[in-house]
Amino acid sequence: MELACLDLEGVLIPEIWIKFAEKTGIEALKATTRDISCYDELMTMRLNELDKAGLGLNEIQEVIATLSPLEGAQEFINWLRERFQVVILSDTFYEFAAPLMAQLGYPTLLCHKLTVSETGKIVGYNIRQANPKRQSIVAFKSLYYRTIAAGDSYNDTTMLAEADAGILFHAPDNVIAEFPQFPAVHTFEDLKKEFIKASNRDLTL
Ligand SMILES: [Mg+2]
Repeated sequence: MELACLDLEGVLIPEIWIKFAEKTGIEALKATTRDISCYDELMTMRLNELDKAGLGLNEIQEVIATLSPLEGAQEFINWLRERFQVVILSDTFYEFAAPLMAQLGYPTLLCHKLTVSETGKIVGYNIRQANPKRQSIVAFKSLYYRTIAAGDSYNDTTMLAEADAGILFHAPDNVIAEFPQFPAVHTFEDLKKEFIKASNRDLTL
């Protein structure tokens, strides 16, 4: 059997922090790793902003629950699950992704975890491991699974390189230009075709 490993944000759902910033009007939360390169500094700032706005996990999940998966994502996941074992490899947190995963039918998700106080305040975050997406592929390969991975951004490229086949989906031009070794597609229909091409089985659309 082959595993399909998918990034989450930008592939199946919108970028959670950016959508959340738009919904709440907290400008500072629009910052990404492109603005603040130190992840720890970025997360510390985000948690401070949430605290300042008096937003605990419950309020945040209520806002996230109003977001929807990207158009066509649900149909794509269903299609993929009929042909592959699907695993989502993400740098988000279980607590943030939960409302959106419900809308996607709860596919398997490997990501990070928050530390939340009894009152619902987010007091910290726990990264599962260093380079988690690539390490997941390494682990699946140790189980003799063939892996095909798709993602949209820099944090996916080591996963794409480690997999038996890597596909860029919805990637910005600079990522496509920097990683010409990966096919780059922009619609779910084309992504299905790339998965079929990358498979060593005789699959059809
Ligand atoms: Mg992404």
